[in-house]
Formats: sequence, C-alpha cells, structure tokens
Amino acid sequence: MPGKAQPRGVAVAWFRIGGLYAGAAYNRRMTMQPRWDGLLLGATLATLDADAGYGLVADAALGWKDGVITYAGSRAGLPGEIDGLSDEVIEAEGVVTPGLVDCHTHVVFAGDRAAEFELRLQGASYEQIARAGGGILSTVRAVRAASEDELFRQSEPRIAALLRDGVTSLEIKSGYGLDFDNERKMLRVARALGERFGITVRTTCLAAHALPPEFAGDADGYIDAAIGWLPRLHAEGLVDAVDAFCEGIGFSPAQTRRMFEAARALGLPVKLHADQLSDLGGAALAAESGGLSADHIEFTSEDGVRAMALHGTVAVLLPGAFHVLRETKLPPLDLLRQHRVSMAVATDCNPGTSPLLSLRQAMQLACTHFRLTPEEALRGTTVNAAKALRLADRGVLRAGLRADFALWRIRHPAELCYWLGGTLLHASYAGGHRLT
Ligand SMILES: [Zn+2]
Repeated sequence: MPGKAQPRGVAVAWFRIGGLYAGAAYNRRMTMQPRWDGLLLGATLATLDADAGYGLVADAALGWKDGVITYAGSRAGLPGEIDGLSDEVIEAEGVVTPGLVDCHTHVVFAGDRAAEFELRLQGASYEQIARAGGGILSTVRAVRAASEDELFRQSEPRIAALLRDGVTSLEIKSGYGLDFDNERKMLRVARALGERFGITVRTTCLAAHALPPEFAGDADGYIDAAIGWLPRLHAEGLVDAVDAFCEGIGFSPAQTRRMFEAARALGLPVKLHADQLSDLGGAALAAESGGLSADHIEFTSEDGVRAMALHGTVAVLLPGAFHVLRETKLPPLDLLRQHRVSMAVATDCNPGTSPLLSLRQAMQLACTHFRLTPEEALRGTTVNAAKALRLADRGVLRAGLRADFALWRIRHPAELCYWLGGTLLHASYAGGHRLT
C-alpha cells in the first residue's frame, strides 16, 4: 500500500488509461514497501494495551503484515494515504479485541459423559456412577479404544466450536491415556489439530491426572512410570509444559513435586490443578516451582496467593467446573486482586466436569459466579491467558505483536460477558490469516 510516494501518481495515470482494476493492481505491485497485507477500518479497538482499562480506540485502524500487527490506533492517526480500492482494506463495524486464548482445556477426548450427567440428576452418587463404569476412567477407556484418527475426528468439532466464539490460541492437555502410547496419541492429536486449524496449540503432558487401573494402589509406581515417559515425549516435540492433579483424589504434593523435578530436568515449564477441592498448598507448590499457573484454586490460602504474587504465577479461574459441580467455595478473588496476581479465565473443556465449548461463556460465568468485572474477564482470556502459556507475542493489540484478533458484532466489550449464547463473532484472524 503506498503512502504519498511517487508510484501513487503513476498509478493514478494508469486508472485513466487502463481502468480501475488495472490501476489498483499496478498500485499494489509497484509499491516498494507496502505497510500491510490487511487493514481494518472504522471499528472500535479494545487494545488492552495498558495496565488498566479496555484501551478503547473509536473509529480505529488495525493494519497487519507478514502475520504481525503494524498499526493499531485511530484512523485519523494512520500515516500516509489509504488506497480504498484495495481488497485488503476492510471497512468494519463493531469491536476488535485480541484473539481469545483458552489456556486450560482437555478438549482432546473420546466419547462423552452425558449418561453420567443424567444419572447424577437422578440422584446417583459419585460411587454409584463409578461402579456403573462412569467417571474419569470411562473417558480413559474410550481414549484408549480410539485410534489416533478417531480421536482427531471426535475432537475436531469441539475446537471448531471454540474458534467460532473467538479463540485463536489454546492449550490442550493429555491425561486420559495414562500409559505411554495413549498419552503420546493424545499429544500427537493435539499437535495435528493445531495444524489443521492454523492456530497455536500449546500441549501439556498431564499424565499425573488419575491413577490407571493397572497401577491401583501404587500411585508412587505410576509416577515413576510417567516420569520415564517424559523424556521420550519431549524428544518427539510433543510437550510444551507439564501439569498434575494435586488433590486428595489425585496425587499428593510429594508426588507432584517429583513430576515437577522431572519436568525441570528437561527445561519444561510446569502448571498445576491446585486446591480445587481442598487446600493441599498446591498453589504455593506451583509458584515455588516457578509454575506458569495455578489452576482452579478455590481453596487456596493467603500464603498460596502471596507465593503466586512473588513468583508471577498466573491464577487460572475455571468457572465451568464450578458451575457444573454446583460448587459454593469461591476462589480468593479479593486476595488475588490485593496481591496483584494476574487472573486468567479458561473453559477447562472436559467431558466430566466442564463440557464447555465457548470461552466467551466462561467469561460470562466468571462474571456471574466469581464477580469478575467484564474487563477482568477479557484480560483473563487475552493478555493474562497468553502469559499463562508463556506466549509473550499476543494478547494485546499493539504494533509488533502477532496479528491475532477477533471482530465482534457488539458496541462495547462488556457485551462479551453480558450476552448468554448467540453469535457475536464476525471474523477472527490468527497470524494475519482469517480463521472464521
Ligand atoms: Zn483441568
């Protein structure tokens, strides 16, 4: 796209001689250094490019080139002239936010647990459901029975659903394989899904999710086995981080610590399902291990929050599971704010406790259940979620960052948390390429 440089005058002559389309093509071809591959004009930007506030810019311009934002500001401040005839210039209405980042999902799985949901509503207890073959081990059986292709085929529509509501990057955990081959299969499918959709997928090895039946009564032996798989999975480029379920019904802090030491030996960052059902000091353990995030954290104490603040560990709030399980213990929101811990919000999409296919809906639940402000919820699914995945190149609309953004049919960003359901997304882009 030209500025006021000489080729534009030549192009104007071409308009007179050769007609409009020839002129526009010449104009693009001859300009030495076009400043963008695409330019969005007229919408309101919510840049989030400051510590507080949405960073609203009305009648804005957003330009990008080679997958990177080259301009994010007012239309009036745009340098040079705009070739309005170019098909890369898009007049738009609505609000543009950074692309949403879902920083905690278990979206790769086989089967579903809808029958278990029905049983629960008929009054069945957790034990009765487990005896009837339900619970997490039913998903483990389904994942083990599925081929890699089948697992991909079943997971693909769930990713598509997340993308339809503004997600442009996401994390996917393993944890339903619970043996080497099946954990590997899950991680390979997660990688393949990222390629299929042209989005960034951060993979997390969650082998320490549950105890498989073949290790019943021997959690330490299982952790030894899982520690043995890590270097091989890592060598295949399948692991971006390591996670564990530290809980009375999961793994102990000592077992979690061993898993984390194995991760650290490979230079892999860690994160933790912490303090969801009881306070085992999980958030502090994650923080002191240099963890990217401590997730759930309903029962985290002030000491845990203080440790997170000290180590820059992100608090990942998962209101979907809170909602489905009808929990009543809220995460320590006031303490998190007081100690200035970054808060993220994620779907925790999983077949048992959070079959949630919209990150925007998770934002809504975070506002209604946890009393997050819509601005906190939006930061929680953009800049803070990116931080939880160590993706420093996105989450804010700013020149120099990756061109991941979403255009919404709304007048104000608070509407993202206000509407329940519906179709608000007009278009989304990842690395400058249109996704939806
Ligand atoms: Zn989870």
